[in-house]
Parts: sequence; C-alpha cells; structure tokens
Amino acid sequence: MKKKILITTAIDYVNDVIHIGHAYQKILADCVARFERIRRGKENTFFVTGTDEHGQKVYNIAKNKDVDIKKFVDEVAKKDQEQQDSLQVSYDRFIRTTDEDHVKVASDFFKKVYDAGYIYKGTYQGLYCEGCEAYKTEKDLVDGKCPLHQGSEIQVVEDENYFLKFSAYKEFLKELFEKNPDFVLPNQRYREMYAFIDTIEDIPVTRRKEKLPWGIECPVDSDHVIWVWFDALVNYLTFGLQVGAWDEDTEIVHFLGKDNARMHALLWPCMLKSAGYDLPDHIYVNAFLSLNGKKISKSLGNVVAPKDLVEKYGVDPIRYYFLRYGPIVEDSDFSEQHFVVVYNADLANGLGNTVARLAKLAENSEFTFSFNMLDSDILSQEFVQYFEEFRVDLAAQYIWSKLSDLDKHINENAPWGIEDSEKLEEVLDYEIKELCLIAKLCEPFMPETSEKILKIFENEKVIAPKSLFPRIFPD
Ligand SMILES: [Zn+2]
Repeated sequence: MKKKILITTAIDYVNDVIHIGHAYQKILADCVARFERIRRGKENTFFVTGTDEHGQKVYNIAKNKDVDIKKFVDEVAKKDQEQQDSLQVSYDRFIRTTDEDHVKVASDFFKKVYDAGYIYKGTYQGLYCEGCEAYKTEKDLVDGKCPLHQGSEIQVVEDENYFLKFSAYKEFLKELFEKNPDFVLPNQRYREMYAFIDTIEDIPVTRRKEKLPWGIECPVDSDHVIWVWFDALVNYLTFGLQVGAWDEDTEIVHFLGKDNARMHALLWPCMLKSAGYDLPDHIYVNAFLSLNGKKISKSLGNVVAPKDLVEKYGVDPIRYYFLRYGPIVEDSDFSEQHFVVVYNADLANGLGNTVARLAKLAENSEFTFSFNMLDSDILSQEFVQYFEEFRVDLAAQYIWSKLSDLDKHINENAPWGIEDSEKLEEVLDYEIKELCLIAKLCEPFMPETSEKILKIFENEKVIAPKSLFPRIFPD
C-alpha cells in the first residue's frame, strides 16, 4: 500500500447548481476519504472536489442573461458548495478552475506539453457537441446526434486550433491498460475504454479567443484559450501539487460518472505522460442515477436538491441510502417512497432498534460497560477489501450482515430473561461490544450516528437514548 492517497471527484460544470445525481459521487468519494483517514491517517489522505467554470456553455448563458460572467460562476460555485456541505462532504479543498493557482498550473501544463512536442497547430474540420463541449466523430453519434445530448444539434465546425497528438498514444494506452487491469473500474468500464483506444484521433486543445474569450489564455498563442476539458482535468494536479500528493508515494484515485469516462481513462493519462507527471492509479466510473423512474433533468422538472432531502430526512439516512443503494456499478433509481421503505427497514427497525434494545438492557442492569473502539478495529480483511475495490455498497452490506448476526444472538439468548447474573453480564458484554464495532464500521458512512452510538456505551453508566431513527409513516 502506498503511504498517501489522493481522492478526487469530477468537478461540476457551473451552467447550473448540482442535483442529487451529481451529489451521489461526492458522497461515494467522501465515504472512501473518511475510511482512508482512519486507515492511512488524516495527514496522508487528500480529498478534492470543486467546479469547472470555463467554456462555451457558461459563456453563452451569461451572455444570454446579460450578466457578468464571473459573478454568475461565483454564485453557482457557492451554491454547489452549499449542496455538498449539506451532505457533510469532507473535502480538503473546493477547487474552482478560475482559482489563480489553477490558472497558473493549467497554463504551465499546456506549455510543458507544447515544449515536449505533443501539441501542433492545424485546422479542425468536423463535429462538435456543445453539450459535451467536445469534438465528435461520426462513430460517436447515434442517429446523427450526441447520445448524451439528443435534444441539441451537432455543430459542424472548421477552425484553426492547436492539436494534441492523441493518436500517437495508442500503444502507450494499451500497455497501461494491460499492465494495470484495475486502472479503470468496474471491469465493464475497463473493457469499454480499452475498446475505444483504436478509435483515438488527434484532438483540438484550444479554441479561438475571438469565438470564445472565456477560458485560460493559451501560453503559446494569445489568440487562443485552452479547451475547457484540457483546463478542467488539470484541477486534480493543481491540488495534488499544492498538498505534495502527486508522486509515486501517492495512490491517485479519480471518481467520475460514465459520461466522463473517456476523458479520464484515455485523454488524461496521455496529457500527464506528455507533460511528464505520474499517472493516476484508478479511475472509478459510477453509473447514472434516475429520479422517480425518469432521467434527472431540470428542463423536465425532474430534479431534487440534496440539501432539501437532508432537511427533510437528516444527513446520515440520506448518505446511508445512496452509499448502499446508489448507482455504484449499475444505474439505479431514487424515489422518496423507496427511501422511506429502506429507512424504516434498515435504520428504524434495524440499527436504531438494536441500539434501543441493548441500551435499555444495559441501563436496567447493574453492570458497568465501557467500550472504547480503536481505529484498528475497523480494519478487518473483508471490510478493507471492499474499500480497496471502492465497493462501498458491499462494505455497507457487510456491516448490516454483522447487525443481523447480532440481532439473532440477542433473540436466541434473550438477555431480558436471563436470571444468572454472571451469564447475563457475559451475554451483554459480548452484544454491546459487537454493537460498538458495528457503530465504528459506520463511521465513513454515517459519521454523526457512529459517534452517537459510541458515546452511549463509552460511559460506565449507560443511559438509553431516545430513538436514533424514528419510524417514518409514509404520507
Ligand atoms: Zn454531447
């Protein structure tokens, strides 16, 4: 295991405030970061999230609304950060691509790639999807349209650009993938990305300022700005360099959605290689979340803000729900009805009920209990393994299987009916210790709940709390 870990999420584009679909990945990365702070130590764990603020789309929005573009992106970035804070996403930095240090790092990065001979000037004639802010080939289209942006027309563009010699990297990428079978996870995404390698063509990495002034100025030609994707990807490096965590002692893990997989799995390693930096260790690609059985979309009126859910149900239940049932590998659907069913089963009747039963038994007994869990207590092989594969859903299942074993033990031993005092103490001692372990395992998932449960049993005299998860009666 490398000493340090750097964890990143995709940075969100500021054309609009993030919704629960974006937020899922932040909770996922946060859970891994919280686990790693326990395993590798706070001083060795670095976690960054933020906003992607340049490019055509945001430029057009600000222009159409006739507002100052910097003011506009400032507002959206602030709201995004509030949404993440409501979920207790414990980032070390909320980076913005308009931050001064990032502008400098991105510009230097471009220069390094240029100086190394991997960027040349040419003319681009081809297709462009404004939704993706990316160049497309015929092969990328479905019925002549971008599969991710069926509502908008593909543009045919012709322009002077600087190009990255992306096509020169096919062999490099094949070797990278073949030597590192867990470079892209889950495995089906790895296979998809590997299959794309042969289709790679050189791509433009600048836009003419005359057409798009909103970007980081190209360091080798002031008539151009750096293409928004080239600029945005470098944010991870900006943070890594800032905290001294972009080196061979650092495991670099990028979390992102499947719409961004190609840029991260194929383009980003080539950019880093051309500029002479270390490559990431893992690209974890999560699937999509839908809402009430439909695509999450503001124009369809089908969105929900994370903050609103948290205000209604509390932060830990929302975190738990998404970490266990979110789109970690396959697409998944969120509805409040499903959430309430899960909440009542897993939290109210599950964890909350077990805590209430054992706290009451402990309070009524004359024994003293005092359990202080250690960080090392959570490092069981199976639990660690799930986190190494970033399968927080399986790690949550593992906790709940321990909870179900504990409930079984309580029912079979029926401590409320044990008359022999020595026997009762032995049974309660075992059961409370198991519960404290479960609470400790919950720390990366539900930090507040974990702390609350551990507090109950760390005092010699246990006082049963009021319900941790009151039952929700659906309207
Ligand atoms: Zn598109």
